[in-house]
Amino acid sequence: MATVKANLQAVRQRIARAAAAAGRDPAAIALLAVSKTHPAALVEQAVRAGQRSFGENYVQEALQKMDALAAWPGGAAPALEWHLIGPLQSNKTRVVAERFQWVQSLDRERIAQRLSEQRPAGLAPLEVLLQVNVSGEASKSGVAPREAPAVARAVAQLPRLRLRGLMAIPEPSGDAALQRARFRAVRELFEELKERGLALDTLSMGMSDDLEAAIAEGATMVRIGTAIFGPREARRGAARNEGATA
Ligand SMILES: *Cc1c(COP(=O)(O)O)cnc(C)c1O
Repeated sequence: MATVKANLQAVRQRIARAAAAAGRDPAAIALLAVSKTHPAALVEQAVRAGQRSFGENYVQEALQKMDALAAWPGGAAPALEWHLIGPLQSNKTRVVAERFQWVQSLDRERIAQRLSEQRPAGLAPLEVLLQVNVSGEASKSGVAPREAPAVARAVAQLPRLRLRGLMAIPEPSGDAALQRARFRAVRELFEELKERGLALDTLSMGMSDDLEAAIAEGATMVRIGTAIFGPREARRGAARNEGATA
């Protein structure tokens, strides 16, 4: 079985190739390792292979891994950057404001206000991305594109947050042109917000199966889970839908 280290190298190569094909500098594309459902031991392997930024979907699970990784064997733990990429409920904002460096799944002004109020004074502002829903009904998370300018402007005003850009999870499509078009729509919204005066530098899109298309359309950060850590166990609901037996 391939190791996390080998997988990371392969993913970095895919990023470099996709960047070259698009005439882009590979250094302009950040790699977020999505460690949700995987144990701290695998995160540790990735850290030892040089990875520093990790994405998690579930707050409690992330906190456990942060604590496990902080107890680095035989010395100081490397500084890691934790990104929340899953839905955020208002009763979890305080601990998120205290423990995470980034929130990519911001999609409500009220949540943004709470995060700003609760971000401890001793820490740098919380880096945030507005999640946009470019696939319409398919995903319930994310701001509708037409609402994005107003929400982005409001979030950009908050003193303890720094709005860095947009995150999107376009519905996967077997049709390459359609997939590119969905990423392009996110990029165009990103450009529009910049034209309206927001200082944004981060466009987070692209996962294990579609990072090449996302990079071709301007992604500056890709969020990769499966290609680094291997398959995740199907969640119970999904297994049922696929007809698997318990
Ligand atoms: C799980 C997840 C990923 C990683 O998906 P892979 O297909 O495993 O690479 C990226 N972004 C978000 C928001 C996720 O929930």
